[in-house]
Amino acid sequence: MSLDGAYDPANIFAKILRGEAPCVRVFEDEHVFAFMDVFPQSKGHTLVIPKHSTARNFLEEEPQVVGPLMLGVQRVARAVRAALKPDGVMISQFNGAASGQTVYHLHFHIIPRWDGVPLGRHAGGGMADKEELKALAAEIAAKIA
Ligand code: AMP
Repeated sequence: MSLDGAYDPANIFAKILRGEAPCVRVFEDEHVFAFMDVFPQSKGHTLVIPKHSTARNFLEEEPQVVGPLMLGVQRVARAVRAALKPDGVMISQFNGAASGQTVYHLHFHIIPRWDGVPLGRHAGGGMADKEELKALAAEIAAKIA
C-alpha cells in the first residue's frame, strides 16, 4: 500500500482505537489518542493518532481534523520533553511506503533524542519491554498540561 488506496479498518491502529488490540496508552482526549511505540527508535518514542479519522496519511486528512490533531501532537511532545528531559525532540510523519510508512492510519511520531545516542531503526528494531513502556507512559502522562 502506498499513497493511493482505501483505508483498511483492520489496520493495527484502528484495532487499538477500538480496544481490539493492546497498547500502552499515554493520553487521550476527544480528538487524539497517544500511545507508546512498541518498536521504539528511542526511549520514550510516542505515537499520536486522530481518533475520528479514516485518513491513511496526512495528505488525506480532513482539514478540520488537522488543527486539533496538531494541538494534541504539541501537547504530548511537551509532556515527553518535560518527563524525559531530552536534548532534542524529533517529530516525524510518513506518507506512503516510499517515504517509510508501514501503518496506514495517520500518525505522528514523537521521538526524544539525546546527544550522542544514535536513532534506532524505524519500525524494525526490537520490541520494547511492556513494563518499561508502562513506566515511561506514566511519566509522560504525569506531565500532560
Ligand atoms: P510508520 O512506519 O510511520 O507507519 O510507523 C508505524 C509505527 O508503528 C512504527 O514506528 C512501529 O514501530 C509502530 N507500531 C507498529 N505496530 C505497533 C503496535 N501494535 N503498537 C505500537 N506501535 C506499533
